[in-house]
Amino acid sequence: MSKSKAYAAMTAKAPLVPFTFERREPKDFDVSIDIKFCGICHSDIHSARGEWGDAIFPMVPGHEIAGIVKSIGKKITKFKVGDHVGVGCFVDSCRTCNPCKSAEEQYCEQFPTFTYNSLERETKAPTFGGYSDHIVVNQDYVLRIPSHLPLDAAAPLLCAGITLYSPLRHWKVEKGTKVAIIGLGGLGHMGVKLAAAMGAEVTVLSQSNKKEQDAKRLGAHHFFATNDKSVFAKLANTFDLIINTVSVDINWGDYLGLLRLDGNMVIVGVPEKPVMMTAGPLIFRRRNLAGSLIGGIKETQEMLDFCGKNNIVCDIEKIPMEKVNEAYERVVKSDVRYRFVLDISTL
Ligand code: NAP
Ligand code: ZN
Ligand code: ZN
Repeated sequence: MSKSKAYAAMTAKAPLVPFTFERREPKDFDVSIDIKFCGICHSDIHSARGEWGDAIFPMVPGHEIAGIVKSIGKKITKFKVGDHVGVGCFVDSCRTCNPCKSAEEQYCEQFPTFTYNSLERETKAPTFGGYSDHIVVNQDYVLRIPSHLPLDAAAPLLCAGITLYSPLRHWKVEKGTKVAIIGLGGLGHMGVKLAAAMGAEVTVLSQSNKKEQDAKRLGAHHFFATNDKSVFAKLANTFDLIINTVSVDINWGDYLGLLRLDGNMVIVGVPEKPVMMTAGPLIFRRRNLAGSLIGGIKETQEMLDFCGKNNIVCDIEKIPMEKVNEAYERVVKSDVRYRFVLDISTL
């Protein structure tokens, strides 16, 4: 066992505080990673505050992990000491079900073992995430970060990046596809960069005009503030694909009306409360409503390589560990441009 320094939520109502715990020694197929940076995903906040109802405390959040391999198990073939690597939202899965066998471990029929707030498959010990100085992970769930990408700005690719890349690929975005992204936060800004790099015509739908210049700089072709309700009539029947990244309940029906015949709206944001909507916008124009969860290991590697080739990283604000609670407050107020990344050397 080796001691790990971390920050943890001790209860759903309390701020995160310094915390120490034990990590396992690397087994034959494990990689031990010195964590350099960890992004703050809105899911960390939902989880640490018990908003999704399944919280295990103490909880060390963090699933946008970037670091350097510091030691390897005896039978490791894929990595060597010094490699730049990442860990995303899960660290294990059953490996035998159909989704696991078809490289979609995120949809494991027995649920993947999540990087934190989950139980290890063998020992049933709780998993602890990336707000910590190191992590030990089976090599099959470790990603390679292209060595020319900065580790701090690459860290959020491990969740925000793949969560948008996967639906953009699944719904076959290509040159000229009309894509709208609802919400310009951590996920949304990656959606803009990735869709633009795939050649799509990208529109941002944001609550107000505040982020218009940023959206254009990130690669969006159009920007609309949805506090002006006339936007919904103006853009009716326009988009091939809409990806909703909003973390609260908004009226999905209003946005479905912006899809063309047979268009798809994909939900990736996970509001705490149920969302009400009427059937009309789905029935007229045969529109589709779907969801999407992160991506599998193979696709996450494909996304990292795509980002390496196109020099895509996240726009980040790097902060020391002791600012984590302040950062949580700012994320909830949509006051983040566009991802907070914790500098783990300040632990
Ligand atoms: P974030 O940085 O907080 O971004 C969310 C964006 O939603 C905000 O920037 C804001 O954009 C918009 N928004 C916030 N409050 C709103 C309101 N009251 N009305 C309308 N729009 C509002 O969060 P994130 O890290 O990108 O995560 C977004 C959601 O995705 C979270 O629920 C998270 O748990 C979930 N998530 C899902 C997956 C998955 O696999 N499906 C993976 C990761 C995260 P504007 O300021 O532009 O309006
Ligand atoms: Zn996440
Ligand atoms: Zn499985």
